[in-house]
This record gives sequence, structure tokens and C-alpha cells, in this order.
Amino acid sequence: MIQLIRGFKDILPGEVELWQHIEDTARVLFADFGFSEIRPPIMERTELFKRSIGEGTDIVEKEMYTFPDRKGDMITLRPEATAAVVRSYIQHKLYATDPVRKLFTIGPMFRRERPQKGRYRQFYQIDAEVIGVASALVDAQLILLLVTLCSRLNVTDVMPHINSLGCPECRPVFRKALSRYIDGVSADLCDDCRRRKDKNPLRVLDCKVPSCRDAMAGAPSVLEHLDPDCAGEFDLLKKALDTLDIPYIVDKNLVRGLDYYTRATFEIQTGLLGAQSAVAGGGRYDKLVRTLGGPDTPATGFAIGFDRLAEIVGIDRSGLASTPDLFVAALGEQCRALAFEWISGLCLAGIRAEMEYGEKSLKSQMKRANRMGASRVLIVGENELTEGAAVLRDMKTKDQVSIPLEGLVETLIQKVKQQAF
Ligand code: AMP
Repeated sequence: MIQLIRGFKDILPGEVELWQHIEDTARVLFADFGFSEIRPPIMERTELFKRSIGEGTDIVEKEMYTFPDRKGDMITLRPEATAAVVRSYIQHKLYATDPVRKLFTIGPMFRRERPQKGRYRQFYQIDAEVIGVASALVDAQLILLLVTLCSRLNVTDVMPHINSLGCPECRPVFRKALSRYIDGVSADLCDDCRRRKDKNPLRVLDCKVPSCRDAMAGAPSVLEHLDPDCAGEFDLLKKALDTLDIPYIVDKNLVRGLDYYTRATFEIQTGLLGAQSAVAGGGRYDKLVRTLGGPDTPATGFAIGFDRLAEIVGIDRSGLASTPDLFVAALGEQCRALAFEWISGLCLAGIRAEMEYGEKSLKSQMKRANRMGASRVLIVGENELTEGAAVLRDMKTKDQVSIPLEGLVETLIQKVKQQAF
């Protein structure tokens, strides 16, 4: 038997209803905050990700699914959505109609990471981007969206962590101070950190290896190196979160794994996920639109790990799956033909009706109806045909009534719609 690829997974009926519920909840929230949906393709030119995410990052260095297509062009299954959304924004000049664009997209991402709980090679993200606003008020609004979505999904134990990465003017000063510090502790760092410290010293700050964490505990803070504008924007973010009554933790080591971030970065962390504590992450990327060939336009956004969110929502899944309103248990070929006509009419009228298509005993049909959770069963056999009325049984109370075959579909529609049995 051919099995699915390692690190990939099926989202099966029983689980998928929860995913639909999360998606519906997110869509309502996005609509209320003025976001439009955008659906970029899942493959892009490799160059797009190299230029945006950055050559020295884990994603580009070792996690992308990249291959030549049949003509030799290098293409990549998207490891994240922002680059594609920005590419689309530029290509279709979405700035021409309104300088501010709020966009969201929901879909699969691909990274060839080591599979483990909460870490897949195809995973899903709910992604939001606001392009065209420089103010940290929008960063605060994105964090409001994230905590609201979590609370509407009954996720307890979430905490926004925030930091600023400064801008290309003030970050080099910090980078220098950080590099000096890292050189002093490099003997205590893991191989990965020692390798990347020159190319990308910021990444050493968020290494999860305990010895690196200890070594970096006394590292200089980016927040002490912000220029006045960046510092002002970070204050504005904190004040806006205070105004919205959103608690947060300032986390000077939060740098995140992509190169394009500037100023505000944030993560929503939770204790409910074990080692993979980030359920969402995001931040400002004021230079990316320009870097990818668009106008000089500030932007900010986030990505929620859909798979991780689905693991921690506090919602009873059993209530989400729909069950049949009616199951028709028909006995004999003639009754089955009638049943088929009835259930077709009922389904078209918006009533979920099922039947048994083969020759099965009444007992086995009742069993199946029960297993499916049908609230009513309509029984029709030779006797019912002769009497001109079928039997409708309420599966909970076990009450039974007789329903004339004449006008049966209309009678059933009335009953189901009025929640009468
Ligand atoms: P990132 O694009 O790396 O900032 O990730 C944003 C969010 O996506 C993270 O906070 C995770 O919740 C989720 N995520 C990232 N990588 C994976 C993965 N391999 N498997 C599942 N979820 C992931």
C-alpha cells in the first residue's frame, strides 16, 4: 500500500469540521476588520523566496522544496505566504486603487523540517498582510486580531511577545554590538550558531539550544539601540496594546527566522503546545515591497500556524460534525426507488437525508442510521405501501407517527424545518 509522504498528513472527516470552524471564525473577523481575501499560487519562482526570506535563513538554506520544472526553471513550493502576496500586490499594482491594502490568505505551506509534533512538512497558515501603513497602530491591530481569534476559539493561555528589530539605519549598530558579544561567548555556542554568527548574528538570539540560551542571556538588547523613530514606534505599539487591554511581554530576543523583518516583531506564544510554543508570528517588513521591485511601501503582517491552532482550540468537536436529519430505511426494490426519489428531493430542499442503497434488513438499516446519528428514520416496506403511509420514528424518544405517502416530501420538509419530529 502506498502511504503518504513523511511529515505530510491527511485532515480527515471528524477533524476537518474543526478546521472549517476555525476558518469560518477567521473569515468573519477578517471581514469585520476590512480584509479582502487573496489566493496566490502555491508555487513561485525560487528567486522570490531567496530575495525576500533571505539566503542565510534556515528556510532558504535547507528547508525549501525546490526543483527544476521540465524546462529547467527553478521553482519552489511556497514555505510562507508573505512573499507571494507581496509579489502579487506589486505585479497587479494593487496600490493603484487604494494605497492601503489589507489582505488575507489561508492555505498550505511547505518546509522540509524534521517532522515532530506540531511541525509538519506541509502545514497550513492563516496569513494576514497590511500593506501601505507605517504606523505601529496597525501592528497593534494585528495583535488584537490574533488574540481575538484565539479567544473566540476558546484558546486559553496565549500571550503576545513583542520586540522591535529597528530599521536599516539603527540595526547595523546593534548588529555590531551583538557580534562583539557573540565572539566573546562563541566557545559555548552550538555548531549551527557558530556557523551562522557571522552571516546572521541575530539568529543566534533565538536559538533554542539551552547552552546557547545561557550564553546569550547577557547579550545586548536591540531595544537599547533603536533610533528615536524606531523607539517612538515601539512605544506607540505598547501604548496601543495598553489601550486595548491586551497584555504582552517585551522579549528582546524575539528575532524570528526571516530576514525581511523591520521594527515590530511579535509572536503569540502558548504553554499548550509543548516545545513548539509559537502559534502565530509576524511583524513589520517595511523594505520588502521595495526589495521585490515595488514602490517604497511599508507593510506588516502575521501568519498563524493553523495545525497548531487546531490542536489547542477549546471547542467540543463532536458538536461540529453534521448528522443526517433523516434516514430512510426502505425494504424491497420498489420502496428503494421511492426512497431515492424522496431523499433527492429532501437534499435539494436543504435537508440532509440518507438511505441504504442495497438490500439490507431493517435491523441493519436502523443500526446504520443510529451510527450516523440520524435524528429521524422513515421506514417504508410492503405493508406501508399498501396502507399508503410510511412510519416516521424519532430516534431519541422512539416515538413513531404515520406519514401519508401523498405529499410525503413536503410533510417531511415542514417537520424538519420546524424541528417537529
Ligand atoms: P513563520 O512563518 O515561521 O513565522 O511561522 C508562523 C507560524 O506558522 C508559526 O508560529 C507556527 O505556528 C506555524 N509553523 C511554522 N512552521 C511550521 C511547521 N513546520 N509545522 C506546523 N506549523 C508551522
